[in-house]
Amino acid sequence: MIMKRINIQLAIPVEVFDSIPATRKKAFRDAVRAMKKLAVKINEGLDNEEMTVTATIHDCHHGEIGNTISCNDTLVEI
Ligand SMILES: [Zn+2]
Repeated sequence: MIMKRINIQLAIPVEVFDSIPATRKKAFRDAVRAMKKLAVKINEGLDNEEMTVTATIHDCHHGEIGNTISCNDTLVEI
């Protein structure tokens, strides 16, 4: 089966993200959730199954010197 596979990875400075109106952020979240409902796992049930029904957001501290906070510490499924 041929899929349209969407990968989006956006690292937005938190100050910029926080300045986005809540209604706009909610509209984006709702659109992502609607697309997730249409998505399927590739090769579901097989050894080579891929988790292709996921979208997450987290506070990323990779750019901070001396960071000890893991991405998974703040990871939330959208
Ligand atoms: Zn991260």
